[in-house]
Amino acid sequence: MSTPNDDAPGAPVAPRDDVALMEGYHSPQVDVAVRLNTNEAPEPPPAAFTARLGAALADVAWHRYPDRGYTALRAAIAELHGVEPDQVFAANGSNEVLQTLCLTYGGAGRRVAVFEPTYALHSHIARITGTGVAVGERTADHALDLDEVARVLDEAAPAITFLCSPNNPTGMVEPEAVVRRVADAAPGLVVVDEAYGQFAPWSALDLLGDDRPLAVTRTFSKTWSMAAARLGYLVGPRWLVAELDKVVLPYHLDVVKQVAGTLALDFRAEMEARVKALVAERARLVAALGELPVDQWPSGANFVLFRPRGRDGGAVWKGLLDRSVLVRNCASWPRLDGCLRVTVGTPAEDDAFLSALAEVLS
Ligand code: PMP
Repeated sequence: MSTPNDDAPGAPVAPRDDVALMEGYHSPQVDVAVRLNTNEAPEPPPAAFTARLGAALADVAWHRYPDRGYTALRAAIAELHGVEPDQVFAANGSNEVLQTLCLTYGGAGRRVAVFEPTYALHSHIARITGTGVAVGERTADHALDLDEVARVLDEAAPAITFLCSPNNPTGMVEPEAVVRRVADAAPGLVVVDEAYGQFAPWSALDLLGDDRPLAVTRTFSKTWSMAAARLGYLVGPRWLVAELDKVVLPYHLDVVKQVAGTLALDFRAEMEARVKALVAERARLVAALGELPVDQWPSGANFVLFRPRGRDGGAVWKGLLDRSVLVRNCASWPRLDGCLRVTVGTPAEDDAFLSALAEVLS
């Protein structure tokens, strides 16, 4: 084992051994005309939101720490989901919610379970917090296999089992019966990451209760057009929220985020209309992809995973980039050989993507 200062004076200090072996998070931020790589909302929030936010920020007591319990935001999120404020925990993006879960329930000698391919940050954040990762495999068509789930739960006894519905990067929605079965079988917590939940036909929010160790995470980054604000949350049992409150740093939610998040929820009707429009646009995109020589997976999210047939996925990604269209390159990821993931954008962005793709594949 290395020690922090066993090198010559002035040499870089060694991090934890496990951190030294890790890779950081890679998602290129490139300047392009059509950006369809990170599943953001294609439009900024409504103009009335921005105007009201500006006015509200003029009244902020900047010399004071923000409300540590983010009371107004918590109440607004609780109302949105028909639960009580003490069933809600919010943090700086749902990634920080996931990190707080791992800090609280993971750590040395504990494990999380993930079923690949899935959102890479579940295992990455677990490892950062010193938690072991038990990896289960999905079927060849990316579905959860309940026998494989049972094997992983038996062998690893995970403190947290992560599901993701719709799953990133496949877009596939976990059937309700499957989530119920996993929640009943898991020895620890089951966390359903619903970063894209609004685009799907059902939500595990309907399964929550204080007598079930199940929680759902959501984000303001997609539906609420607020990726820049970094705000996400969890809805779950009271006993779970109480533990997370102990672990997160004091005053972790700054005042801008609290005000912006609370205000955003006043625009629910507008956001629901946008989700509906994106779901319709997704159907158009899926139909158009169906006319091209690509395989694709059924999506309940605001993105679609596809694989150009008989072509090198990385070369197709580069061909799109040469035409100023950026999609997510999953071509070299394990289990996703040759795959690319495209975010549903505005109709104009999607048309630009489709014509660039047709050209690249011709
Ligand atoms: N979960 C999933 C499945 C995601 O795809 C993302 C965003 N890429 C997140 C969580 C993190 O979202 P946030 O911006 O709220 O941290």
